[in-house]
Amino acid sequence: MMAYIKLCSECRSRSISASKEEWICPHCGTDLSDEPVFRQIKIKKNWWETEKSKNKKKKALA
Ligand SMILES: [Zn+2]
Repeated sequence: MMAYIKLCSECRSRSISASKEEWICPHCGTDLSDEPVFRQIKIKKNWWETEKSKNKKKKALA
């Protein structure tokens, strides 16, 4: 499983995503879709899915 890191040209923050397409900086909202990938990393399988299901559990408990 790969994830990508991009550096925002506006606010210089890093953001991480599983897809290089349709990239919006989560810090300032700049469209980074055309920015080059800063780094490519290996991640655990579906780590964001795990995060999602954690959130679901929280909601179910609430
Ligand atoms: Zn930004």
